[in-house]
Amino acid sequence: MDSILRRCKKCGRYTMRKDRCPYCGGELEVPHPPKFSPEDKYGRYRLLMKIMSGEIKLNQDAVKTILTKLSQTKANE
Ligand SMILES: [Zn+2]
Repeated sequence: MDSILRRCKKCGRYTMRKDRCPYCGGELEVPHPPKFSPEDKYGRYRLLMKIMSGEIKLNQDAVKTILTKLSQTKANE
């Protein structure tokens, strides 16, 4: 899926221009959606539940990392 939006690699702002950033002149890239979108808060909890219930098999270190990341994200909201 091609987005009409471009994101500046330098300042991180979004623009509809395709050549360069109108704010700082930086290089543009097509923004990729983050793995955990802020709009999909429930998806995050669904994933968490699956990990906690053992439906998704992960080693303990991976589980710890994910849980830490999720709780940090939650605290920053
Ligand atoms: Zn920029």
